[in-house]
Amino acid sequence: DSPPASTSLPPVTLEDHTRIRQSVLSAPPPPIPEGIEGCIGNTPLFKIKSLSEATGCTILAKAEFLNGGGGSSKDRVALSMINMAEEQGLLTPGQGDTIYEGTSGSTGISLAALARARGYKARIFMPSDQSMEKSDLLHHLGAEVERVTPAPITSTEHFVNLARTRAKEHTASQNDASKGFFADQFENLANYTAHLQTTGPEIYRQTGGQLDAFVAGAGTGGTIAGIAIYLKKIMGMGDDLKVVLADPEGSGLYNKVKNGVMFSNTEKEGTRRRQQIDTIVEGIGINRITENFEIGREFIDDAVRVTDVQAMKMARWLVEKDGIFIGSSSAVNCVAAVVTALEMPKGSRIVTICSDSGTRHLSRFWKMIGELGLEEEHENLLTLLGIKPT
Ligand code: PMP
Repeated sequence: DSPPASTSLPPVTLEDHTRIRQSVLSAPPPPIPEGIEGCIGNTPLFKIKSLSEATGCTILAKAEFLNGGGGSSKDRVALSMINMAEEQGLLTPGQGDTIYEGTSGSTGISLAALARARGYKARIFMPSDQSMEKSDLLHHLGAEVERVTPAPITSTEHFVNLARTRAKEHTASQNDASKGFFADQFENLANYTAHLQTTGPEIYRQTGGQLDAFVAGAGTGGTIAGIAIYLKKIMGMGDDLKVVLADPEGSGLYNKVKNGVMFSNTEKEGTRRRQQIDTIVEGIGINRITENFEIGREFIDDAVRVTDVQAMKMARWLVEKDGIFIGSSSAVNCVAAVVTALEMPKGSRIVTICSDSGTRHLSRFWKMIGELGLEEEHENLLTLLGIKPT
């Protein structure tokens, strides 16, 4: 008896092989990336179907969690900062140099991976209220990690100031000739330049220049500045493109964009902790104006404030409806993209960023989503988020 048809493969003849090989190889082979560096950038821009349906607009997200170094948009920035440091002689491969950085995690992870690839050490200082999986990952990448109690930026114990000081001490030390390089993602303009040179052009190409709004949060401000400057200034989109800041609760940037002031008269800039209130969102929201935010400031048209509960509900919704599993800053971006879409004519195209994956946020953001019991099925996104269509 012959076996059932489903388990038997049809015969393939020698002529078939030749024909199939020729057809597969008829297009030129795609370039083979050089190591992890070659896997950074050129991320897909994908349509989020459920959000597009709910708003009557097209909502597109840049899948930055697919970057091949540390798995976030920060790979672009880390690569850009290391390249610039090498050009300026601040880092030299093979001499035992160490990269120092203060980071909520993502930049540190990207720097640690690229440090390995280029032959550097990495020492990372991060606030202790960030998720454990990020510091665990840093350990596994061979970085030295210090989790630092959150302190105001004016304090020498602030995680950024510690990184700067330790880098200086390293270079000054007489032990050997190796250097300490403080990457300084907040003030280092190689940060926004990375987005100006890569993310911005990719978005323009992927949309064919057909986009009406760009929405993103700011941690250092590099992403929103680089992309806004590229699209509005370099590509000349100007007022045809609305650039919107997505800001979590407790961040001062919303007020800065809306009212021009970050703090009330009784509050002094930089004296408060990272956030004015605790937020579950990691990576975006800040209470000082960084160089990377300042340079893009004039190109930001509006701001949307997003609550923690809205971000958590959005993250759950995207899993339920689209099978998309994202981190907290991406969820904030998606809420702000929906709010922006509702203020624009139907059919508008809105682009946002999904900076990293939910796997980076299992122990805080996703754990809290589980604890709050947000698993139930929902039918109406706007009711779920408490947003009224305008
Ligand atoms: N999302 C995540 C997860 C981040 O770590 C960061 C940067 N800290 C951002 C978004 C914000 O990007 P940027 O620093 O370019 O403003």
